[in-house]
Amino acid sequence: RGMAQHDAMVARRLSGEPIAYIIGTQAFWQHEFLVSPAVLVPRPETELLVETLLSRLGSGEQQVVDLGTGSGAIAVSIAAERHDWFVTGVDCSRDAIAIATRNAAGLNNIEMRVGHWCDDIASGSVDAIVSNPPYVRDNDIHLIKLSHEPIRALNAGPDGLDTIREIVPAAYGCLKTGGVLLIEHGYDQQESVKDLYRQARFQQVAGLKDLNNLPRAVLGYRL
Ligand code: GLN
Repeated sequence: RGMAQHDAMVARRLSGEPIAYIIGTQAFWQHEFLVSPAVLVPRPETELLVETLLSRLGSGEQQVVDLGTGSGAIAVSIAAERHDWFVTGVDCSRDAIAIATRNAAGLNNIEMRVGHWCDDIASGSVDAIVSNPPYVRDNDIHLIKLSHEPIRALNAGPDGLDTIREIVPAAYGCLKTGGVLLIEHGYDQQESVKDLYRQARFQQVAGLKDLNNLPRAVLGYRL
């Protein structure tokens, strides 16, 4: 890279732009993922979702859906680890799906499609649904720090739960009996998310902690 290019990159970094956007890639689980400002930069704590699915779901054929797949980090990571599973990544953003599709190149057990959450998923058809949805509340100071990332991948209403409130009951309808729902949430949202699961009739609802020992995900089964 030339000096002018180097200076331009430094200027972008100084403005607070994530390194991942400047370089164009971010490491997550076992891969380097292409990223652009159309997608959230994959976070290390989200590896909890990958780890949990890999340990909870049997080998053999499984239909898995990743809602709000963004760069495809979760979907691609699990598809690469389990060739018997079939993974569908869904995102409302065409630009995100374009990136996710590139990240899925070379795998034949994955598809990426534009859609609104569970709208195009047949009822009772899926073994597992995973999501790292937007969960940051309106006016959260955090949103300013994250201003380079897509707001609709981060923000979810006054309590940050608008999206999870929509996904949980919809996901219940899409799951087979015995199917699991796994959702990432904010560090102070675990009890509320568990309540949303129970209201939607999920059973064996359990909270999980991330690598910083913060409450970070909830899972539950449709039994
Ligand atoms: N964990 C992200 C953060 O730092 C939020 C991701 C999300 O809303 N899904 O802020």
